[in-house]
Amino acid sequence: MSCDYITLANSGVQGLHPYQPGKPIEELQRELGLSDIVKLASNENPLGPSSRVIDACREHAAQLHRYPDSSGFELKNALSARLQVRPEQITLGCGSNDVLDLVARVFLEEGKSAVYSEHAFVVYPIAVHASGARSIVTPAREWGHDLAAMADAVKGDTRVIYIANPNNPTGTWSTRAEVEALLQRVPESVIVVLDEAYTEYVDDPDYPDGLALLPRYPNLIVTRTFSKAYGLAGLRVGYSVSSPQIADLLNRVRAPFNVNSLALAAAAAALEDGDYLARSREINRSGLQQLAAGLSSLGLEYIPSVANFMAVKMPADAQRVYSGLLQRGVIVRPVGIYNMPDHLRVSVGLEAENRRFLDALPAVLDEVNRG
Ligand SMILES: *Cc1c(COP(=O)(O)O)cnc(C)c1O
Repeated sequence: MSCDYITLANSGVQGLHPYQPGKPIEELQRELGLSDIVKLASNENPLGPSSRVIDACREHAAQLHRYPDSSGFELKNALSARLQVRPEQITLGCGSNDVLDLVARVFLEEGKSAVYSEHAFVVYPIAVHASGARSIVTPAREWGHDLAAMADAVKGDTRVIYIANPNNPTGTWSTRAEVEALLQRVPESVIVVLDEAYTEYVDDPDYPDGLALLPRYPNLIVTRTFSKAYGLAGLRVGYSVSSPQIADLLNRVRAPFNVNSLALAAAAAALEDGDYLARSREINRSGLQQLAAGLSSLGLEYIPSVANFMAVKMPADAQRVYSGLLQRGVIVRPVGIYNMPDHLRVSVGLEAENRRFLDALPAVLDEVNRG
């Protein structure tokens, strides 16, 4: 007799689907035999890693037989100095994804609920459902989070609210006034996770710095990452800043050595490279403008974004446009799982990469519209 292990999995896991990553360049190479491929699918930094990071990795390569420093002493101290928070407030993760998951493991279980928005980052439903908790999904407002509706949605069993600021895949963001109004309304017993994965890219004066809110809101957890503006997506390192007590709880369920030694060294080196960060921001600013102008001149609608990507509304079957772009060596991201079946998400690349995307689009749209 064979056993159906699906029925044995915890009930939250039974309903889950695996995370769908952006298509790797090598995979498209294998499938289509293309050599000149542009990947604008995972919000990666188009500059490549900082040379200081590469040097740091080389220096540490000789110590790869050692376990990493599980306490992350040096990186936490570097972050502490940079962010003006105490090292005890910091929790390091294997990407900030890890920390988002730790929050669910610490505060959620069957019989509890978590609130997040429609179109919000897909890691939230995965983390929530895997914990056995229930999701409360609030309707979006102009594609963005409606923080007033999220505060209204809090129930007696709600333990966590996830807010992506800015959100992926919409690129929308919440103002300081909106975030503060939510923090003032929800009980202190509800953990508010402010996911600031793209914070380095945002310039708007009304965009809040979550760290500045921490002293007044002990239920706040701010998460950040080295994957985007710092260009370390492949190494997997992110962190949260919270009260020391919450950090202690997260640390109880954290896998030992969750951040590897190259990642620790590379992240510390990346923090030191202010020029790289400035260049990342500049390339992104001009890339967003380039994409906006190019899309407008093609008559295409997009959701205005402050992050390093844009969700573009397709005037034809988006899945087929995605395939057509693949045929031309341009990888973008379908966002059907975000309940946005008519959009494609394009990450900001270098000028020539953005141009490849913009140049390929008209022919692909033509082809798809002709059937
Ligand atoms: C990319 C992203 C993250 C960070 O992912 P890492 O695990 O740090 O690579 C977190 N939140 C959002 C909204 C993201 O888009």
